[in-house]
Amino acid sequence: QVPLKPGRSLMDWIRLTKSGKDLTGLKGRLIEVTEDELAKHNKKEDCWICIRGFVYNVTPYMEYHPGGEDELMKAAGTDGTDLFDQVHRWVNYESMLKECLVGRMAVKPIAAPKGEFFKEVNIVYYALFRYCLEIMRSPKLPKYMSFSLLCFLFYSCDWFQTDSLITIVIYTKLKDMNAELVIVDCQDKRLRGEIIMDDHSYLVEVGLDHAVSEDVAVNIAEKVGKVEIILNKKDNIHWKMLGQPGEGHNTFIKRTDRGLFYRKCKLVSKTEVTHDTKLFCLMLPKGTHLRVPTGQHVYLKQIIAGTEVVKPYTPVLPFLPLDFQEPSHHDGVHMYLMIKIYSCGLFTQALDHLQIGDYISVSNPEGNFKKSQLQTSEDLLLLAGGTGFTPMVKLLSFALTEVSCLRTVKLIFFNKTEDDILWRNQLEQLALKDERFEVQFILSQPTKDWVGKQGKISSSLLSEFVKRSRRDSKVFICICGPTPFTEQGIQYLKALGYSQEEIHAFTA
Ligand code: FAD
Ligand code: NAP
Repeated sequence: QVPLKPGRSLMDWIRLTKSGKDLTGLKGRLIEVTEDELAKHNKKEDCWICIRGFVYNVTPYMEYHPGGEDELMKAAGTDGTDLFDQVHRWVNYESMLKECLVGRMAVKPIAAPKGEFFKEVNIVYYALFRYCLEIMRSPKLPKYMSFSLLCFLFYSCDWFQTDSLITIVIYTKLKDMNAELVIVDCQDKRLRGEIIMDDHSYLVEVGLDHAVSEDVAVNIAEKVGKVEIILNKKDNIHWKMLGQPGEGHNTFIKRTDRGLFYRKCKLVSKTEVTHDTKLFCLMLPKGTHLRVPTGQHVYLKQIIAGTEVVKPYTPVLPFLPLDFQEPSHHDGVHMYLMIKIYSCGLFTQALDHLQIGDYISVSNPEGNFKKSQLQTSEDLLLLAGGTGFTPMVKLLSFALTEVSCLRTVKLIFFNKTEDDILWRNQLEQLALKDERFEVQFILSQPTKDWVGKQGKISSSLLSEFVKRSRRDSKVFICICGPTPFTEQGIQYLKALGYSQEEIHAFTA
């Protein structure tokens, strides 16, 4: 993120888009854009970018781009889809840039296949492939066919029924299948089940033939990778078919190619953590099965002044457990978010104005942290700045409960003042209770009464606190906070001799 000039906030941009000003320079006309035409608009004062086949004139947006003009210029006059997906695929550009839409990219003619023989082989192969796909996609599929086809395809889904239940079975053939990898949403006869496998996702999406009750159960046979989604029939009638397949049904694609899915969650409580930070408790709908993995975040979406605004937040636990004997079980119903309310923050102000009982859209989880990264660590060091503490909460719980070789866990927590320290009491209690855990608070703007450490993240502070418990012990360091804090921290850590593999930075 770069500092924006005054009058260039997201709210100012929303106001400009609503002002009726012609932002494309085309007086409301939509045109078909060729690659040659797109390439001509590659300057700051005349910049067009294509995202997913649609071309936007982003010239008026330049000064409002939170990542800065230079970042936007990287895609000037070209297809910026990949760049956009890498940086912020969660941003709803369709809504933000709708007044900048120039038109669609012109469709390129498809080159004819070389040679008659290849043409015929291609056609036969393609027809066969489509036929298999069509059969597999159909929830109307007779059982014996589904079973035989599943022998050929990696992923497959099947279904059966009793008088009162419908069970959809997905054979993933994954050995380490677990509840965090299965996300199910069932509402108003629409069923969506997503299975995550590394950077890929498999989807079951069906418009159900009959009504089911709100609650859904998910059973997982971890060793064989079988997932069962169990629905309760509303009427005890025999279903002739499961229903109509949705557009994404039975697809296995890269996670980044799958659009973010949102469900509405109810705000059930809002409690003060510090003078400006609150713990929001959201309730998932009954038909949702969603467990956010350690180190991952979700996106919240609100309509603000007629524009969809999306921001990432990292779920935490309701409190820090003091007894890390058992894995902390998610109740499966609530999601806790610790959020700092900025006095001029667009999203957090709107969030703070939500009333108990109001609804907010919450996405599927995302993030590239993998628990396996710290599975063999002996020393875990957590460097947090402000709300950069949020990913550390579940991480602490996971490390102290499930990483058996772990000897020391140290949290180095940077804040401006004493009043800004999140969960200070709980952290101090944990340090007293668990001898493996130690916490160090460092303040950048302390009052004169502060007797603890003070300063900003620096090489000297890190060399004082970031240490291996033994000369050759296996260390893992996680860092999260304001972007410059994280970037500087990584530089200092590398200068102190820690390798890239030993560091995980939580970023957007
Ligand atoms: P904006 O309208 O964008 O900004 C208004 C003003 O607020 C700014 O001028 C600045 O003074 C201040 N401000 C805004 N954003 C920041 C910032 N990021 N750093 C410092 N000052 C800022 N926040 C949480 O509170 N809890 C979380 O769990 C959390 N998880 C996150 C996870 C990820 C992956 C990322 C990338 C960010 C996370 N954030 C979290 C930050 C959050 O997404 C928003 O950036 C933040 O809530 C501000 O949004 P806003 O619209 O209110 O502020
Ligand atoms: P803050 O209170 O403003 O700052 C926390 C500490 O970081 C303070 O000591 C502050 O010192 C220091 N700091 C701030 N800017 C710095 C800089 N440029 N260089 C060095 N130190 C700096 O922080 P906050 O408002 O809570 O913001 C937390 C940040 O964490 C947000 O940017 C949020 O987006 C990010 N976050 C990211 C994730 C993720 O997963 N990626 C999750 C949660 C939060 P001074 O200000 O006194 O210099």
